[in-house]
Order: sequence, then C-alpha cells, then structure tokens
Amino acid sequence: MKTVTDRTPDQTADSIPESLGTLQDVDWRDFRDHIATADKEGRRRWLFPKAPSGIWHRRRAWFAAFLIVLMFAGPWIRIQGNPLLLFNLVERRFSILGQIFWPQDSGVFAVAMLVFISGIAVFTVAFGRLWCGWACPQTVMLEMVFRKVEYLIDGDSAVQRALAAAPWTLPKMARRLFKHAVFFGLSFLVANTLLAYIIGSEQLLDIQFDDPRKHRVGLTFMILFSLLFYAIFARFREQACTFICPYGRFQSALLDENSLVVAYDRSRGEKRAALHRDQGSEARKSSGLGDCVDCRQCVAVCPTGIDIRDGTQMECVNCTACIDTCDSIMLKVGRPTGLIRFASQNNLERGEPQHFTSRMALYSVVLAALIGVFLWLVFSRSPVETTFLRVSGSLYQSLPDGRIRNLFSVKMINKSHEPLPVEVRLENLPGSVRLMGATNPVVPVGQYLQTSALIDLDPAQLTGSTTELKLGVYSNGRLLERVTTQFSSPRNLSPKSHP
Ligand code: SF4
Ligand code: SF4
Repeated sequence: MKTVTDRTPDQTADSIPESLGTLQDVDWRDFRDHIATADKEGRRRWLFPKAPSGIWHRRRAWFAAFLIVLMFAGPWIRIQGNPLLLFNLVERRFSILGQIFWPQDSGVFAVAMLVFISGIAVFTVAFGRLWCGWACPQTVMLEMVFRKVEYLIDGDSAVQRALAAAPWTLPKMARRLFKHAVFFGLSFLVANTLLAYIIGSEQLLDIQFDDPRKHRVGLTFMILFSLLFYAIFARFREQACTFICPYGRFQSALLDENSLVVAYDRSRGEKRAALHRDQGSEARKSSGLGDCVDCRQCVAVCPTGIDIRDGTQMECVNCTACIDTCDSIMLKVGRPTGLIRFASQNNLERGEPQHFTSRMALYSVVLAALIGVFLWLVFSRSPVETTFLRVSGSLYQSLPDGRIRNLFSVKMINKSHEPLPVEVRLENLPGSVRLMGATNPVVPVGQYLQTSALIDLDPAQLTGSTTELKLGVYSNGRLLERVTTQFSSPRNLSPKSHP
C-alpha cells in the first residue's frame, strides 16, 4: 500500500507528471514534500481541528472512557493483594495481573515484550493504526480529555482561531490562564498515575501526604512528570505522533493491500468539485464529477491536519473523525455515506471483500503461541525462587565427630500472595539442612529472606572433592521447588556413587 513514506527521493512536486488521470485534479503533488503541521519555512502550523461528532466518535468516546477509568484505577486495583500492574524500577519489583515478578524473571519480560511487539504487528497488518486513534494513551488523553476541555473553555475551531488571532486583552489572558491551569491540573493527575504505576500506590500516598522533606526525590519526579505531560498535551500534541512515536513509521512495512485503514474512495469521490445549488447527482455524474463536494470538512476535523483524500499517510491515526464528518456531508447532499470509510486498498480499487490473509494468519498464530507461553510463564512459576550457594571463599570444615560441614548462603524470594514458612530438606542423601537465624523462618509476601545454612554430612556419603546435593524447598509440607548445589569435601575421600 502506498503511504507517504513510499515516495522516492526524486519524486518532488515538479517531477510528478501532470498526466495522472484523475489524480491531476487533486492538489496532491506537493503534499508529500512537507508535513501538514509545518509551513514551507518549517515553522509549526498550529492546528484548530473542529470538534468531531457522529457514530464513530461516540463509539470512540465510550471506549476511551473505559480506558481512562482503567488507566486511572489501574494502580489501585489489587489482585490477591498485589497491584494489577506495577513497574517498580526503584525496588526492582514488578506485578503483572497481580503476579509479582523480580528481575530474575527476565524470561517473562522478554516474552511479554515479544507479545507486545508481535501484537502490534498483527494488529497493524489487519487493522492499520487503529491502536493510535483508539487505544494509545497519548491520543486518548489528548483527544478525549484535553481537547474536550479546550472546546469547553475556548469553543470550537472557528472561535479558537479568532481567539488566537485576537490581541492580548484581559479576558483573553484570563481565559488562557484558566485553560492552562486546568491543563496543568490534568497533567498533574496523569503524572501521579504514572508514578503510582512506577512506585506503587502506597508510596505515592506517602509522597502526597507525608512530610515533604522526606520525599524530595519523589516530589521532584512528580513535578517533572507533570511538566512533561503538560508540555505534551498543551503544546506538543500531534507532533508526538508524527515525530517521536516510531510506530507510524513502521506502517509502510506492515500495511498491505488487505489492511483495513481509514481511506477515501477515490473512484467514487473524484472528480471532486463544489456542489452547485441546482446541480442534482445525475447532472454531476454526467459532467464527470464524483461525490466529493470538496467542502474540506474532512481536513478541518483532522487532528493531525492531513487531507485523507491524498491517500494513506504516516500522520493518520485512524481516529475516524473524517468518516463521521464526510458521512454527515453525504447525508446533507443526498449521497450514500461511506465516501471515507474503513476499507482496504483491494476493497476500494477492486471491490474485493475484506478477508483474512495468510500473512495475518501467520502473525496471529505466532501471537497466539507467544501469548500462550507468556500466560504459562506467569501462572506456572514456582511461588518461591531459591538460590543456595556455598559461601564464596569457604571450603569445608571437619567436625570432631568426623562429619564434614559446608557453609552456604541462601536467598529465597516469595512470589506468592501469602507469607511462606519454609524448610529445606536434603533429597538425594541422608542428612539435614540447618537454616541460621529464626527457628521457623518465614518469607514475607513479595520480599526475600537472606540467610546462611549449614549442611553436615557423613564422609561415607560423599563422592569425592565435590558432591552434588539436591535440595527441596518445602512450605507446610508442600514441595515448592527443587534446587541443586555443590558440597565440598577433602580430596582423599574414597569415591562412592549415589543416586
Ligand atoms: S468531507 Fe467528504 S465531501 Fe467533503 S471534502 Fe472531504 S471527502 Fe469530500
Ligand atoms: S485522516 Fe481521518 S482518520 Fe486520519 S487522523 Fe485525520 S481525521 Fe483521523
């Protein structure tokens, strides 16, 4: 599928031939030479998109409301006492679907990343950039929260334009101050939510309500994040999607002729021309005119400032605002809706129905397999992770009764939802393991126990200078995990084999 990035370097406005059939009637020959939000000198062209309305917008608004509630509630939702999602980089503690993860669980994170990336690839192959317009937190917050507030305070596009051009009077300053104060307040909320995902909701409450002098670092990040979000949502806006997010740039590689995208039906719309009062649709058809009445409402409503009639472009976030607007125009001029609609290139150009391609099938199989591996990794993990290593630099100690003693360092991480009383048993040799410290050690939820252990063995049980020991970690008599370690002993022991 042709996108803006498919342009060859020599394909400048002047080099595109005038004889491109219906395309010559479209002022598209230079749209690939500059982005919609910059003028010819490269200066930012501020957008004042019209407020969208229509069936697609209502669907999107409901979906966004659900996502916003989920996003703000996420850090406070607990599953068996653990957060739904937590990425505590400071304490290196993570929670996914209420399952606690540690940096040692890097395999799970690697699979999670693969699932995420392949999920985006599959989704893009099938549905274009639906993610951007419908689920990306940046777009959801910008279009469904910040932009709505702007419409409430400043009014719709025309009023905003007039206000921007008006001189700086006291009412204008007051309105601007009020709007940006609300923007900063919202950014503060978003920043706090992000912090709650990073450090946990309890720590966030500590920062908010405890003595500020104890939380200088936390408060600094809270302010920095608030300023960052304020800058993004109040000023940077759609530029984040166009310049920073790499996803838009992937779409040239991922989209194909069967991908569903927001598209203009050129064969039906061209040749575009304004509608004259006394011109019926038959008269238009006989004059070689299409259904597009060139009202440019699809451009006026676009939050990225592009003209979808030029074709699929990197900036398009599939927000569907142009579909709603064009449908309302079509209804007004008595033509069928769907001049701009969700369609694939094959659907538009060859009338082919949307179908599931082998490429989509392959990606879906890979994605399903990765999701399966991910869920298996998440839910089949041992509730405890134990490392049992001989203390570095120590060898063995010969006891007066002839037995050999080794000193081990032990670390147990409790990944379960309950405190775990633990006991370690020797599995392949007779003997016992003595954990130092508490008589009945308990590993607290989501934390670890670090201690030492002594193992004393009869030399008759040993196989040489090192003997492999198999240990079982038990809690309330239930085997949680098996680990192996090496036992060191004098070289002159007579070799003996063990099971
Ligand atoms: S809104 Fe529809 S009719 Fe108006 S310019 Fe866009 S495509 Fe043409
Ligand atoms: S072209 Fe249409 S779907 Fe794409 S960003 Fe603009 S309004 Fe949204």
